[in-house]
Amino acid sequence: MIKLKTSEEIALMRQSAQLVSKTLGMLAAEIKPGVTTLYLDNLAETFIRDHHAIPGFLGLYDFPNTLCMSVNEQVVHGIPTKKPLVEGDIVSIDCGVLQNGFYGDHAYTFPVGEIAPEVQQLLDITKQSLYLGIEQMVAGNRIGDISFAIQHYTEKHGYGVVRELVGHGLGKEMHESPEVPNYGKRGRGPVIKNGLVLAIEPMINLGTKKVKQLKDGWTIVTADGKPSAHFEHNVALVNGKPEILSTFDYIEEALVKVNH
Ligand code: MG
Ligand code: MG
Repeated sequence: MIKLKTSEEIALMRQSAQLVSKTLGMLAAEIKPGVTTLYLDNLAETFIRDHHAIPGFLGLYDFPNTLCMSVNEQVVHGIPTKKPLVEGDIVSIDCGVLQNGFYGDHAYTFPVGEIAPEVQQLLDITKQSLYLGIEQMVAGNRIGDISFAIQHYTEKHGYGVVRELVGHGLGKEMHESPEVPNYGKRGRGPVIKNGLVLAIEPMINLGTKKVKQLKDGWTIVTADGKPSAHFEHNVALVNGKPEILSTFDYIEEALVKVNH
Protein backbone atom coordinates (compact mmCIF):
# COMPACT_ATOMS: atom_id res chain seq x y z
CA MET A 1 0.00 0.00 0.00
CA ILE A 2 1.30 3.44 -0.92
CA LYS A 3 1.33 5.83 2.05
CA LEU A 4 0.80 9.39 0.80
CA LYS A 5 2.25 12.08 3.09
CA THR A 6 0.70 15.26 4.45
CA SER A 7 2.46 18.59 3.97
CA GLU A 8 3.55 18.45 7.65
CA GLU A 9 5.08 15.02 7.07
CA ILE A 10 6.81 16.21 3.90
CA ALA A 11 8.31 19.12 5.88
CA LEU A 12 9.80 16.61 8.34
CA MET A 13 11.02 14.43 5.49
CA ARG A 14 12.78 17.42 3.97
CA GLN A 15 14.72 17.82 7.25
CA SER A 16 15.75 14.17 7.15
CA ALA A 17 16.78 14.38 3.50
CA GLN A 18 18.72 17.60 4.13
CA LEU A 19 20.63 16.00 6.98
CA VAL A 20 21.75 13.28 4.56
CA SER A 21 22.70 16.01 2.07
CA LYS A 22 24.81 17.77 4.72
CA THR A 23 26.43 14.49 5.75
CA LEU A 24 27.41 13.78 2.14
CA GLY A 25 28.66 17.37 1.80
CA MET A 26 30.83 16.92 4.91
CA LEU A 27 32.24 13.71 3.42
CA ALA A 28 32.92 15.32 0.03
CA ALA A 29 35.64 17.47 1.60
CA GLU A 30 37.31 14.36 3.10
CA ILE A 31 37.42 12.05 0.08
CA LYS A 32 40.94 11.78 -1.31
CA PRO A 33 43.54 9.12 -2.10
CA GLY A 34 44.73 7.37 1.09
CA VAL A 35 41.48 7.76 3.03
CA THR A 36 39.63 4.58 4.02
CA THR A 37 35.92 4.06 3.62
CA LEU A 38 35.75 2.97 7.26
CA TYR A 39 37.19 6.34 8.34
CA LEU A 40 34.51 8.12 6.29
CA ASP A 41 31.87 5.85 7.81
CA ASN A 42 32.93 6.83 11.34
CA LEU A 43 32.83 10.53 10.42
CA ALA A 44 29.31 10.13 9.07
CA GLU A 45 28.02 8.29 12.13
CA THR A 46 29.37 10.99 14.47
CA PHE A 47 27.97 13.77 12.26
CA ILE A 48 24.50 12.21 12.13
CA ARG A 49 24.36 11.57 15.89
CA ASP A 50 25.63 15.12 16.59
CA HIS A 51 22.58 16.32 14.63
CA HIS A 52 20.22 14.34 16.89
CA ALA A 53 19.44 11.67 14.33
CA ILE A 54 20.09 7.96 13.97
CA PRO A 55 22.03 6.35 11.12
CA GLY A 56 19.30 4.85 8.95
CA PHE A 57 21.20 1.86 7.56
CA LEU A 58 23.07 0.76 10.69
CA GLY A 59 21.34 -2.45 11.79
CA LEU A 60 18.70 -2.21 9.04
CA TYR A 61 18.35 -5.82 7.83
CA ASP A 62 21.51 -6.26 10.00
CA PHE A 63 23.70 -3.99 7.82
CA PRO A 64 26.88 -3.43 9.90
CA ASN A 65 27.68 0.26 9.18
CA THR A 66 26.30 3.78 8.75
CA LEU A 67 27.14 4.12 5.05
CA CYS A 68 26.95 1.83 2.08
CA MET A 69 30.26 2.53 0.31
CA SER A 70 30.69 0.95 -3.08
CA VAL A 71 34.03 1.38 -4.86
CA ASN A 72 34.51 1.06 -8.65
CA GLU A 73 32.82 -2.18 -9.82
CA GLN A 74 30.76 -2.30 -6.63
CA VAL A 75 27.24 -1.15 -7.50
CA VAL A 76 25.60 -0.72 -4.09
CA HIS A 77 25.58 -2.11 -0.53
CA GLY A 78 29.37 -2.15 -0.19
CA ILE A 79 30.62 -2.45 3.40
CA PRO A 80 33.18 0.14 4.62
CA THR A 81 36.73 -1.26 4.94
CA LYS A 82 40.23 -0.28 6.05
CA LYS A 83 41.46 -0.36 2.44
CA PRO A 84 42.56 3.14 1.34
CA LEU A 85 40.98 4.75 -1.69
CA VAL A 86 43.40 5.37 -4.56
CA GLU A 87 43.62 8.02 -7.26
CA GLY A 88 41.24 7.19 -10.10
CA ASP A 89 38.73 5.27 -7.96
CA ILE A 90 35.09 6.20 -7.76
CA VAL A 91 33.12 5.65 -4.57
CA SER A 92 29.33 5.57 -4.37
CA ILE A 93 28.17 6.66 -0.93
CA ASP A 94 24.61 5.88 0.08
CA CYS A 95 23.51 7.42 3.38
CA GLY A 96 20.32 7.09 5.38
CA VAL A 97 19.13 8.83 8.53
CA LEU A 98 16.11 8.53 10.78
CA GLN A 99 15.02 11.82 12.32
CA ASN A 100 11.63 12.80 13.78
CA GLY A 101 10.28 9.42 12.74
CA PHE A 102 11.09 9.79 9.04
CA TYR A 103 13.88 8.46 6.88
CA GLY A 104 16.13 10.36 4.50
CA ASP A 105 18.03 8.22 1.98
CA HIS A 106 20.22 9.53 -0.79
CA ALA A 107 23.41 8.79 -2.63
CA TYR A 108 26.19 10.25 -4.79
CA THR A 109 29.11 8.77 -6.67
CA PHE A 110 32.34 10.65 -5.93
CA PRO A 111 35.55 10.73 -7.94
CA VAL A 112 38.78 10.11 -6.01
CA GLY A 113 41.31 12.55 -7.49
CA GLU A 114 41.53 12.39 -11.28
CA ILE A 115 39.34 9.77 -12.93
CA ALA A 116 39.24 8.42 -16.49
CA PRO A 117 37.10 10.47 -18.91
CA GLU A 118 34.85 7.48 -19.71
CA VAL A 119 34.16 7.05 -15.99
CA GLN A 120 33.44 10.77 -15.55
CA GLN A 121 30.95 10.46 -18.39
CA LEU A 122 29.28 7.52 -16.64
CA LEU A 123 28.87 9.69 -13.53
CA ASP A 124 27.54 12.65 -15.53
CA ILE A 125 25.03 10.60 -17.52
CA THR A 126 23.80 8.68 -14.46
CA LYS A 127 23.24 11.91 -12.53
CA GLN A 128 21.48 13.44 -15.53
CA SER A 129 19.24 10.36 -15.82
CA LEU A 130 18.15 10.90 -12.21
CA TYR A 131 16.91 14.40 -13.08
CA LEU A 132 15.19 13.14 -16.25
CA GLY A 133 13.41 10.56 -14.09
CA ILE A 134 12.39 13.24 -11.58
CA GLU A 135 10.92 15.38 -14.42
CA GLN A 136 8.47 12.56 -15.09
CA MET A 137 7.22 12.56 -11.49
CA VAL A 138 4.15 14.68 -12.17
CA ALA A 139 0.52 14.16 -11.18
CA GLY A 140 -1.24 11.71 -13.46
CA ASN A 141 1.95 10.10 -14.77
CA ARG A 142 2.82 6.58 -13.66
CA ILE A 143 5.93 5.10 -12.08
CA GLY A 144 6.78 3.52 -15.46
CA ASP A 145 7.24 7.01 -16.92
CA ILE A 146 10.08 7.64 -14.44
CA SER A 147 11.55 4.20 -15.15
CA PHE A 148 11.40 4.61 -18.90
CA ALA A 149 13.09 8.04 -18.84
CA ILE A 150 16.06 6.69 -16.88
CA GLN A 151 16.43 3.53 -18.96
CA HIS A 152 16.02 5.25 -22.32
CA TYR A 153 18.63 7.92 -21.63
CA THR A 154 21.28 5.67 -20.10
CA GLU A 155 20.90 2.82 -22.60
CA LYS A 156 21.23 5.38 -25.41
CA HIS A 157 24.76 5.88 -24.08
CA GLY A 158 25.43 2.15 -24.17
CA TYR A 159 25.27 1.64 -20.42
CA GLY A 160 23.82 -1.29 -18.47
CA VAL A 161 20.76 -0.60 -16.31
CA VAL A 162 20.75 -2.76 -13.17
CA ARG A 163 17.53 -4.76 -12.88
CA GLU A 164 17.87 -6.43 -9.50
CA LEU A 165 17.79 -3.24 -7.38
CA VAL A 166 15.25 -0.46 -7.58
CA GLY A 167 14.16 2.84 -6.05
CA HIS A 168 11.28 2.94 -3.60
CA GLY A 169 8.74 4.84 -1.60
CA LEU A 170 10.14 6.50 1.52
CA GLY A 171 8.64 7.57 4.83
CA LYS A 172 8.40 6.08 8.30
CA GLU A 173 9.94 3.00 6.67
CA MET A 174 13.14 3.07 4.65
CA HIS A 175 11.56 0.98 1.92
CA GLU A 176 7.88 1.62 1.25
CA SER A 177 5.66 0.97 -1.78
CA PRO A 178 5.90 1.50 -4.66
CA GLU A 179 9.06 0.06 -6.18
CA VAL A 180 10.67 2.45 -8.66
CA PRO A 181 12.63 0.41 -11.22
CA ASN A 182 15.21 2.14 -13.39
CA TYR A 183 13.81 0.33 -16.43
CA GLY A 184 10.28 -0.04 -17.70
CA LYS A 185 7.51 1.08 -19.98
CA ARG A 186 5.72 4.40 -20.19
CA GLY A 187 2.20 4.47 -18.80
CA ARG A 188 2.68 1.40 -16.60
CA GLY A 189 2.67 1.00 -12.84
CA PRO A 190 1.04 2.98 -10.03
CA VAL A 191 -0.34 6.47 -10.73
CA ILE A 192 1.67 9.36 -9.25
CA LYS A 193 -0.38 11.41 -6.77
CA ASN A 194 0.18 14.39 -4.46
CA GLY A 195 1.85 13.31 -1.22
CA LEU A 196 3.87 10.54 -2.85
CA VAL A 197 7.48 10.55 -1.65
CA LEU A 198 10.01 8.52 -3.62
CA ALA A 199 13.68 7.64 -3.44
CA ILE A 200 14.63 7.63 -7.12
CA GLU A 201 18.03 6.03 -7.62
CA PRO A 202 19.50 4.99 -10.96
CA MET A 203 22.25 2.35 -10.65
CA ILE A 204 24.01 2.38 -13.99
CA ASN A 205 26.93 0.24 -15.19
CA LEU A 206 29.61 1.20 -17.71
CA GLY A 207 29.36 -2.30 -19.20
CA THR A 208 26.91 -5.14 -18.73
CA LYS A 209 23.70 -4.70 -16.75
CA LYS A 210 24.43 -8.03 -15.05
CA VAL A 211 25.43 -7.99 -11.39
CA LYS A 212 26.32 -10.52 -8.71
CA GLN A 213 26.48 -10.51 -4.93
CA LEU A 214 29.74 -11.09 -3.06
CA LYS A 215 30.07 -13.75 -0.37
CA ASP A 216 29.77 -11.08 2.35
CA GLY A 217 26.03 -11.27 1.65
CA TRP A 218 25.84 -7.55 0.90
CA THR A 219 28.09 -6.12 -1.79
CA ILE A 220 26.63 -6.06 -5.29
CA VAL A 221 29.26 -5.91 -8.07
CA THR A 222 29.10 -5.74 -11.86
CA ALA A 223 29.48 -9.14 -13.52
CA ASP A 224 32.17 -7.79 -15.88
CA GLY A 225 34.14 -5.84 -13.26
CA LYS A 226 33.53 -2.47 -14.97
CA PRO A 227 32.58 0.57 -12.86
CA SER A 228 29.07 1.44 -11.75
CA ALA A 229 27.47 4.75 -10.67
CA HIS A 230 24.62 5.49 -8.26
CA PHE A 231 22.82 8.80 -7.68
CA GLU A 232 19.73 9.10 -5.49
CA HIS A 233 17.36 11.90 -4.51
CA ASN A 234 14.27 12.02 -2.29
CA VAL A 235 11.38 13.65 -4.12
CA ALA A 236 7.85 14.58 -3.00
CA LEU A 237 4.90 15.34 -5.22
CA VAL A 238 3.52 18.72 -4.13
CA ASN A 239 0.78 20.52 -6.09
CA GLY A 240 1.27 18.08 -8.93
CA LYS A 241 4.98 18.76 -9.32
CA PRO A 242 8.17 17.10 -8.05
CA GLU A 243 9.89 18.80 -5.15
CA ILE A 244 13.41 17.49 -4.51
CA LEU A 245 13.79 17.21 -0.72
CA SER A 246 17.49 16.38 -0.83
CA THR A 247 20.24 18.39 -2.53
CA PHE A 248 23.66 17.82 -4.08
CA ASP A 249 24.60 21.48 -3.44
CA TYR A 250 26.64 20.78 -0.27
CA ILE A 251 28.54 18.05 -2.10
CA GLU A 252 29.22 20.04 -5.22
CA GLU A 253 30.31 23.16 -3.32
CA ALA A 254 32.79 21.01 -1.37
CA LEU A 255 34.06 19.28 -4.52
CA VAL A 256 34.77 22.62 -6.19
CA LYS A 257 36.89 23.64 -3.17
CA VAL A 258 38.74 20.29 -3.06
CA ASN A 259 39.65 20.66 -6.75
CA HIS A 260 41.06 24.21 -6.41
MG1 MG B 1 19.99 5.01 -0.70
MG1 MG C 1 17.14 4.19 -1.55
